[in-house]
Amino acid sequence: MSDTALYIHIPYCRSKCGYCDFCSSPDLSTVDVYVSELIRRVKANKTDKVVKSVYFGGGTPTYIGAKRLCEILQAVKDSYTLSEDCEITAEANPGTVDLHGLETMKKAGFNRLSAGIQTAVQTELDALGRTSHTVKDGAALVKNAREAGFDNISLDLMYGIPEQTPESLTRSLDFVLRLEPEHISAYALKLEEGTPLYRQSPALPDDDTVADMYALINETLGKSGYHRYEISNFAKPGYESRHNLRYWRGGDYIGFGVAAASLIGNIRYSQSPDMKAFLQGKEPDIIEVLDGPGREAEYIMLHLRLSSGVDKKEFRQKFKVDFDEKYAPQIKKYAGHGFAVNTDERFYLTDRGVFVSNTVITDFI
Ligand code: SF4
Repeated sequence: MSDTALYIHIPYCRSKCGYCDFCSSPDLSTVDVYVSELIRRVKANKTDKVVKSVYFGGGTPTYIGAKRLCEILQAVKDSYTLSEDCEITAEANPGTVDLHGLETMKKAGFNRLSAGIQTAVQTELDALGRTSHTVKDGAALVKNAREAGFDNISLDLMYGIPEQTPESLTRSLDFVLRLEPEHISAYALKLEEGTPLYRQSPALPDDDTVADMYALINETLGKSGYHRYEISNFAKPGYESRHNLRYWRGGDYIGFGVAAASLIGNIRYSQSPDMKAFLQGKEPDIIEVLDGPGREAEYIMLHLRLSSGVDKKEFRQKFKVDFDEKYAPQIKKYAGHGFAVNTDERFYLTDRGVFVSNTVITDFI
């Protein structure tokens, strides 16, 4: 019997961050009907596959309260077979859950928290329009989570923020490291069209400075015992996100909630972000059938982001083609110039290659 993973989307946040284009809203007026509809769908879409991970993302799941999250998790447990070591994550933003809430979640079975810290510099949080919490709230969340018994915590950091400098990023890195998370994600700020920050068009650090910031993150985290297993993700040994690894390795997952996506076999489904349609029972649409070339391109793109790279044996089994033969010119170019390593089993990017990963990936696909 094969396995799968579940993603549950909670589209509510205490306030909307200036750079955010995710499906989320501060308006909680629909929350109870939304949770009921989620639970109905979870129960109706049973599978006999073993569930290896469950991920509550958003939005800010903890904004709707621990009790509602635990009700949804209970419906999941009642409807599916969860593996014994099932990773059950909730995204949790500072200032939205207290010690009691965290204890309730831990008791119900949540065993991993992912918290958006982003920066330890208050003026940078302000510049991001991230008004729902302070720097202090971030530290309090981690302290409470530890007290509640969470021993697997991931923290998000952001770089390339307006007015951020390598020096201020160093302060944020120090802050995050003092909290001793098991996992750290570090993403560059992207100005998404249509967001308030995009309209403000703030002065951002230039490309060279952003590249220096990434190098600083890479070096600092590496020296502190975190290994980079994906371009933007760092973990202490054994704490890599199993759920996200499944996405990056192209494994199946089932998504529930507005704007949630699923991948089942080679078919990608997506629920529209239309809350009304979701509440009226509209089913997800097929948005893509990943055929041979599409799936191969996606495989290469995702695997080159992973430090483990392309597994040539797996590649041959999946696509019935020899990786070394098909991509000989690219392999020669990048392995020959120190941007990648090509062994009998794998092809992966070196630290140097990671800095130009977009160029390398584009060249392959
Ligand atoms: S907390 Fe996250 S999902 Fe919510 S508004 Fe901010 S960036 Fe968007």
